[in-house]
Amino acid sequence: MPLPSPEHGARRAVAAALVAVTATLATAAVRAQPAQTIYVGGDILTMKGPRPTYVQALAVRDGKIAYVGQKAGAMRLRGPSTELVDLKGRTLLPGFIDAHGHFVYTGKNLMDADLFGSVDVAELLARMKAHAAKVPEGAWIVGFGYLSRSLKENRAPTVEELDSVATGRPVLVVDSSGHLGAGNSAAFRAAGIDGSTPDPEGGSFTRKADGRSLAGPMEETALNAVRKLRPPFTGELADRVAVDASRLWMSYGQTTAMECGLGLGDDDFDLVRNAIDRQLLPIDLYVCAKDSTVDKAAEVARQVRRDYPVPTGDAADGRQRALVDQALASGGGMRERLLAVRPDLDQRYVNRVRLGGVKFWLDGSVDTAWFSEPYTTNPPGKTGTYTGFQQIPDEVVQAAFDRYWKTGVQMNLHMNGDAAVDQALRAIDRAIARHGPADHRPVFVHGAYMRPDQIARLKSVGAVPSFLTSSIVTGGDAVLRLWGAARGTTALAAGTLSRKQLPFTFSHDAPVSPQPWILALVDAGVNRIAASGRVVGPDERVSPYIALKAVTEMAAWQIKEEKTKGTLEPGKLADMVILGANPLKVPPRTIKDIPVLQTVKEGRVVWSAAK
Ligand SMILES: [Zn+2]
Repeated sequence: MPLPSPEHGARRAVAAALVAVTATLATAAVRAQPAQTIYVGGDILTMKGPRPTYVQALAVRDGKIAYVGQKAGAMRLRGPSTELVDLKGRTLLPGFIDAHGHFVYTGKNLMDADLFGSVDVAELLARMKAHAAKVPEGAWIVGFGYLSRSLKENRAPTVEELDSVATGRPVLVVDSSGHLGAGNSAAFRAAGIDGSTPDPEGGSFTRKADGRSLAGPMEETALNAVRKLRPPFTGELADRVAVDASRLWMSYGQTTAMECGLGLGDDDFDLVRNAIDRQLLPIDLYVCAKDSTVDKAAEVARQVRRDYPVPTGDAADGRQRALVDQALASGGGMRERLLAVRPDLDQRYVNRVRLGGVKFWLDGSVDTAWFSEPYTTNPPGKTGTYTGFQQIPDEVVQAAFDRYWKTGVQMNLHMNGDAAVDQALRAIDRAIARHGPADHRPVFVHGAYMRPDQIARLKSVGAVPSFLTSSIVTGGDAVLRLWGAARGTTALAAGTLSRKQLPFTFSHDAPVSPQPWILALVDAGVNRIAASGRVVGPDERVSPYIALKAVTEMAAWQIKEEKTKGTLEPGKLADMVILGANPLKVPPRTIKDIPVLQTVKEGRVVWSAAK
């Protein structure tokens, strides 16, 4: 095998540790300690600098990059236990960084049956039965993603049909909109709902011909009344959320994942805490707390630090690290008191998790983005002069900036329309006026349409937009129709930002993109081809190299970890991905098809493609 397996890597690590001990004991051994791994024989693309730079060799020691450069230089670090990896023409890059995704939410979805593309009720039931066999005792059997109007019967499954999946255990199916679903008898029993239960405000249970008995399907608040009784993920299921989501993220080459909206589910905090305590994560997870849960998140983070007092890993900022260390050394609860006031000071990952930000939603999506000018074509159901929706008042956004502007907890602001961008800029201007400038790096999540005058202000406020480029493929045609050509073609303005040398990132927002597929983002940022085949805004295309920077170097900068991640440089973490081909050398429209062969976290192979 040309590439080491994880087990092999672990044994190597042990061997390397023994060698290290031996070397320390042997006073004669004054040479540099040998590398654990040396990579040669392929395109090693460092991602450092404005032009692509390749090196012949890269050496890893103690989980960090010890050397990049000529092969002869790397070979000087070769010891008896050093593994020499021949890339055989494959491409080695910095590990991809998730700049906006929902790791925990996607992980929970992975526990449910995938009902996308079901053609009829029989297929839906077959998928549910196959899934039921894998669901642990005590858990609900849930499926997600069918569409009633796409089923041959043009209806949701009935209570009797779902009883055929299981009788003693609750069975629930939810359609791809998330607003409609159906349950079996046990699901209704568990929710204490029967024929005598009236429909709740804002929803309904479908009734049988007698006008009373439950038929199975339900809508909106009625669905929620049943769904909310699903037990939280605990035990084996909780473990699987973390393990399966990690595997999925790593399979797309990511060494840092993100959950930007922790607290959407009641059990989210317990799931992350479980992942920390049981050390389930092979890759880093940067967490943003959902707006309504920031206090709980801060409390959980404080508790984690109390339980794991020994600093590990690298802090994002050395000066802050020194402050915490000083407080730690002074004893007498000083560290606790300091962190209570400034929870951001301790920015280390604890068992691969750190609380890095908070998340606010300023507007909606394609149909509900908040604009300063009306939609060009109104979305279905909207009449008159329609400009989308504001989600939260200025005071709320401003209060959050008051609280976080001078801290390392970053504001992540969901925005699609330019009125939402204005709201963010107002809040940042106010924060600067009140508290002075800060290296806060507010994230404009999606930042879909920004006017030229807004783009001109990005640098002075230090904001970094994170573009959901894969939405051009799925929604580019709709955006051109609803927002009009002027806004549509300049949306996700990567080309403009690149020409102005402003930072931006590409992010998948999984499960909004069904897969956390980084190379699809790179491909879409390079090509910008909508489903119709039309190129949406050719001027906003970027080169493959710049697109790769949006998921490596600039993504590391966005999460304030540019000192340890994002490029292949000595001293940085050996977080890397091996691709089957070089994205800079394949036809641009095939970038997304390049296979991810291996994902390496701090020198250890954590994921390999099936041979
Ligand atoms: Zn999101």
